Amino acid sequence: MYESEGKRVVVIGSGPGGAGVAALLQSRGKQVTLLERNRFYGGKCWSFTKDGFVVDSGVHMFSMGDSGQHGDINRMVRGDLQWLTANPSEHLLLGGRHFMNLYQSLTDPRMPFANLRANLSLFKDMAWRFMGGGRMSKELEREVYRASRKNSLLETLMAVVKIARLNPSYLAELDEITMQEFLHRITDEWPPLQGMAALSMLLTVVPYEQVSAGEFLWCFANAFRKKTLGVPRGGSREIPGAFLRAFRRDGGELRLGCEVKRILVRDGKARGVETAEGEIVEADLVISNAGIKRTLEMAGEENFPEEYVSYVRGLRHSYSFITVKYGLDRRVIDLPAPSFFNIPDVDPDHMFDYIDRGGVPEDPFLFTPMPSEWDPYAAPPGKQLVICGVPGPIEVTKENVEQCERILDRAEKRLFEIFPRMEDHVEWRMRTHIAHTASITGKPTGECIGLAQCVGQTGIHKPAPWTPVKDLWLVGADAGARGVGTEQASGSAIYVANLMA
Ligand SMILES: Cc1cc2nc3c(=O)[nH]c(=O)nc-3n(C[C@H](O)[C@H](O)[C@H](O)COP(=O)(O)OP(=O)(O)OC[C@H]3O[C@@H](n4cnc5c(N)ncnc54)[C@H](O)[C@@H]3O)c2cc1C
Repeated sequence: MYESEGKRVVVIGSGPGGAGVAALLQSRGKQVTLLERNRFYGGKCWSFTKDGFVVDSGVHMFSMGDSGQHGDINRMVRGDLQWLTANPSEHLLLGGRHFMNLYQSLTDPRMPFANLRANLSLFKDMAWRFMGGGRMSKELEREVYRASRKNSLLETLMAVVKIARLNPSYLAELDEITMQEFLHRITDEWPPLQGMAALSMLLTVVPYEQVSAGEFLWCFANAFRKKTLGVPRGGSREIPGAFLRAFRRDGGELRLGCEVKRILVRDGKARGVETAEGEIVEADLVISNAGIKRTLEMAGEENFPEEYVSYVRGLRHSYSFITVKYGLDRRVIDLPAPSFFNIPDVDPDHMFDYIDRGGVPEDPFLFTPMPSEWDPYAAPPGKQLVICGVPGPIEVTKENVEQCERILDRAEKRLFEIFPRMEDHVEWRMRTHIAHTASITGKPTGECIGLAQCVGQTGIHKPAPWTPVKDLWLVGADAGARGVGTEQASGSAIYVANLMA
């Protein structure tokens, strides 16, 4: 337990992690000052208003809604966050042919009936391939991923039970292998692998050949156990917004438009920060939400052991989600669920290879929530807000920005093929990609999540929130917790606050 009694606390950054830890510590009687470089709060979990629409700066859905880490902080700080859920929550187009509804629970009795047609035609496809049709010959031509061993049926059933129970030692074991390896031990059939490859990108923004199976399955199992996937009323900004309203109510000081240039380190201890305007803010404890790499730069690498510096330099970021957003002049898309996913009919082991190759997917994975279907107040009466996200690269270089534009051209084309009436009702459209995300965080990269939840960076390998510099801590997606994007950032805030006596 870290002794924080009577200490002056400075938090750098107001993403869900920074806003969450500031609210929790303030509610527990500490005196906290939060410094945020932007003139708005929330980091990557921010929303803005455009022509009466409440638009998320990213493309957001929250896997555990009120039952997850955001709801926990909100209850602990007596916040005013409200949640919206729907069931079914997702409408999928699998392989360009099969439409399916995904319910909040995998055992929802409606699931098999609602998806009867899709299941039958998927089964027909699989049987045809089993008999030697179509893709079999293609598989002979391509390099097929081989799992190191195959599970017996009993092993698979036992694995499912352990995952459903969130058995911690089993998940820790699975942190050491990729999701690709885990799944190929069970099946080499494309449809289930395609679904999981897309879901891995959705939940962690890391392709399934890189993501740690333990981390992914923790996120996946929790989402279906909690059964409250949803969005906050009022847009994503309401998550940090509710935390910060509670923070200020309890006497915390929030300073927007206040960039920290340097973390002051004296005698191996953090002693405050210097702002871009040259102001010194003294503190006995500094908690940084600026990301682990940026925090090291601000505190000066010379203040850390060499081993820690090279460990941090070697950490990898997640990929990005780049978006195109549409304000429609009427409600055009009418689906059973408030979000739509296009799961491409491509080799699941190579679904996202296009990103590192500088290419464009022929059939892109589309993550398309329709915020006004969850929350009618997200759009003016009678209108519809649609946000479409596609995975992309992260470094903000000229080539990558051009690649993002090409990916979004393809995504728009595919979206209009699926929903042909949409194009005639576009009141406004807007693209946001890596340069936009980077401008929000002040980094040279536009990663979606933070650190990649890949093998070697999750579970016991995840950076701890404490650092070798005394009284300098990390909070947010880069430190300490498990979970999906914003939820692991809030999880990290709870973890850090609970370690402070
Ligand atoms: C396009 C997109 C789609 C996404 N979709 C989802 C989704 O569906 N579900 C989900 O849960 N997550 C999603 N995420 C991920 C999620 O938004 C991030 O993982 C989460 O916001 C990370 O939170 P954080 O607390 O670590 O900090 P961040 O949100 O990264 O915020 C860090 C804050 O620190 C501030 N800061 C940095 N440096 C300084 C400094 N020197 N001085 C002062 N302030 C500073 C920044 O301005 C920023 O406000 C998405 C992200 C993007 C970009």
